Amino acid sequence: MPEVESLARFLTQKCVGHAIARIDLAAFSALKTYSPPLSALTGLEVEGVSRHGKFLDISAQGLHLVFHLARAGWLRWKDSLPDAPPKPGRGPLALRLRLDDGSGFDLTEAGTQRKLAIYVVADPMAIPMVATLGPDPLSDEFDQTALADLLQSAGRAQLKGVLKDQRTIAGIGNAYSDEILHAAKLSPFKPANSLTDTELAVLYRAMKDELADAISRAEGLAAADLKSEKKSGLRVHGRKGEKCDVCGDTIAEVSFADSSLQYCPTCQTGGKKLADRRLSKLLK
Ligand SMILES: [Zn+2]
Repeated sequence: MPEVESLARFLTQKCVGHAIARIDLAAFSALKTYSPPLSALTGLEVEGVSRHGKFLDISAQGLHLVFHLARAGWLRWKDSLPDAPPKPGRGPLALRLRLDDGSGFDLTEAGTQRKLAIYVVADPMAIPMVATLGPDPLSDEFDQTALADLLQSAGRAQLKGVLKDQRTIAGIGNAYSDEILHAAKLSPFKPANSLTDTELAVLYRAMKDELADAISRAEGLAAADLKSEKKSGLRVHGRKGEKCDVCGDTIAEVSFADSSLQYCPTCQTGGKKLADRRLSKLLK
């Protein structure tokens, strides 16, 4: 989500005040709504760019172009887009949006998974995944009491899953949940309702700090550079086998839900390796 927040700020500077000259859809399956059509945005002036969790929202005179980039999706800004419309169905391009000055962006998705989702709506709350988002950890209302309440109501669910669940807290994904738990020195498998007051305070601080740091690192970077900045700024996520820069232990990995998580045994789990519960389930 810090990357999405940075993209929202970047697009605010680039797009607000400009009219949308044309939109071309190259990957038809990415568009999840059909009424109003994409072409209804043509000619409208961009009034604002905001974020709902990991969804970006470009608002233009009563209509909203909302998109979720998913794991392999990205936005590529171009100060000057080619004049010819893109050819549909080939390559990573999903959508091209051109502004009245010839600048604009491509939404692309690498690989074969088709997870990138685009919506045209009069009200973003018409998108069920936006309407059911939990509180945003960057908002002013998200104080330590709010975190305490939602961890209590999550019961014995594991912290890792709770932080990642968009309906509980909006915008923290696989990477930053690993980073936050590492900074807070908490086991990803710890039950959500079992934190002491001190642990709660540390988790709250880690959440605010990790997200704010990531946003400030990304501040001012062009959209193309955001992904590499994200990678270089992470301390545990995706760094299995590397040394923890806090304690020097080797960063470990364990399966979690449909992917895997990385953590530091010394910092987070009293030196113990977490058991792969999916595997132990299969063996039973
Ligand atoms: Zn460590």
